[in-house]
Amino acid sequence: MATMRVAIVDAEFAPRSGYEITEAEKKTRKVREGNRVWRNPKLIYRTDYPKPKPGPDEVLIKVKACGICGSDVHFLETDEEGYIIYPGLTRFPVVIGHEFSGVVEEVGSNVQWVKPGDMVTSEEMLWCGECNACRSAYVNHCYLLNDPANMTYGELGFTHDGAMAEYVVVKERYIWKINSLLNRYSSEEKAFEAGSLVEPTSVAYHAMFVRAGGFKPGSYVVIWGAGPIGLAAISLAKAAGAGKIISFEISPVRKELALKVGADYVFDPVELSKQGIEPWEKIMDVTGGEGADMHVEAAGAPSATLPQMQKSLAIGAKIAWIGRAPKAVPIYLEIFQVRRSQLFGSQGHSGWRTFGNVIRLMAAGRIDMTKIITSRFKLDEVEKAFERAHKRIDGKITIKP
Ligand SMILES: [Zn+2]
Ligand SMILES: [Zn+2]
Repeated sequence: MATMRVAIVDAEFAPRSGYEITEAEKKTRKVREGNRVWRNPKLIYRTDYPKPKPGPDEVLIKVKACGICGSDVHFLETDEEGYIIYPGLTRFPVVIGHEFSGVVEEVGSNVQWVKPGDMVTSEEMLWCGECNACRSAYVNHCYLLNDPANMTYGELGFTHDGAMAEYVVVKERYIWKINSLLNRYSSEEKAFEAGSLVEPTSVAYHAMFVRAGGFKPGSYVVIWGAGPIGLAAISLAKAAGAGKIISFEISPVRKELALKVGADYVFDPVELSKQGIEPWEKIMDVTGGEGADMHVEAAGAPSATLPQMQKSLAIGAKIAWIGRAPKAVPIYLEIFQVRRSQLFGSQGHSGWRTFGNVIRLMAAGRIDMTKIITSRFKLDEVEKAFERAHKRIDGKITIKP
């Protein structure tokens, strides 16, 4: 049997008391709230994992680059009781990795649009296409993807074997070609790096332009948090013609990257508070008292960010909400009426040609997400790569098989 090298996360299946685990979750181990079930996670590097074979609708991809996502890091970080931090859909053990690119090696008998040799990336949301959510175009909210009883659909690198591996298999329907990136980047190496960043960039695109409907050129845009998603949001805001881009971030590396990808102003909220200044005051200052036309939340810190947004909404402002935080925060609706403002919740990256448009922007050189990669590791150095990831000193860490 052919084998391959992979990075796996495994953990103990130990539902917390109070978590109403369903029969389906027990049976499939595909659980809805990972942080309430999985304990004592570990990262395992294996060299003897079975190489997958593509089914009739599937494509076998030789992985060339795969980013470490914040959620991968949260699989391995635990609370006081040893439970993982990541709160969402998970099924362990699983080969992790969902921000990737590679070359098609083999295709199944029903595959029509992709052929061996194509450079590709893939969506991470494995939607069914047939449930009422999917048929309403809400593929990011697919019923079967989230259904613990269904093992065909889910999330790549969360419930289904992902791309921190030599090879990965995905259905053709989730694949996007990135051959066009070769014309932009001088080397295949760089083109694959860019390709591995299509997924996180699409998360920001979906929130700002699909969910929130975008902004008019000249608008003032504020990005909260300059992690990879925030950095993608800054790049996209720049490409879309924002009048001014303001970002809030505490990490020195990420502050620098924010400027590199197009932010006009980057403020450190901790530094500001030492001077007795609140972020909203800076926004009002920089925008000449008009406020932000669009706020993008990519920090996952609603109790810190929402009050600041509420005090700096332009008339007609939009808030695009991406950051995840399983907690309730107070909202002051009066200000949303007075400032004619709206908040848009966003999840996922699929549908609406979002991947296609992000690839076009990259191919045209209007955004260059490879600037945010600050560390590169080989797959057999995956443990070292995660040691570094836990320190949070990078823009993006990329693994190459
Ligand atoms: Zn991710
Ligand atoms: Zn569906």
